[in-house]
Amino acid sequence: MFDYMKSLFKRKKCAICGKNAEKPANYYDDKGEKVVVCFQCVPYAERRAFRKR
Ligand SMILES: [Zn+2]
Repeated sequence: MFDYMKSLFKRKKCAICGKNAEKPANYYDDKGEKVVVCFQCVPYAERRAFRKR
């Protein structure tokens, strides 16, 4: 149960830099997959044609 709770709150990794996303923004990548992008990579995500969700 505790592990389940932990996984719920586990930090997501940024789809671009691969680090734990700080202040993550939700995007769809070019394949339509749900990804998170950290605030530092948001401008890059916009250029990569990621779509906000
Ligand atoms: Zn990033």
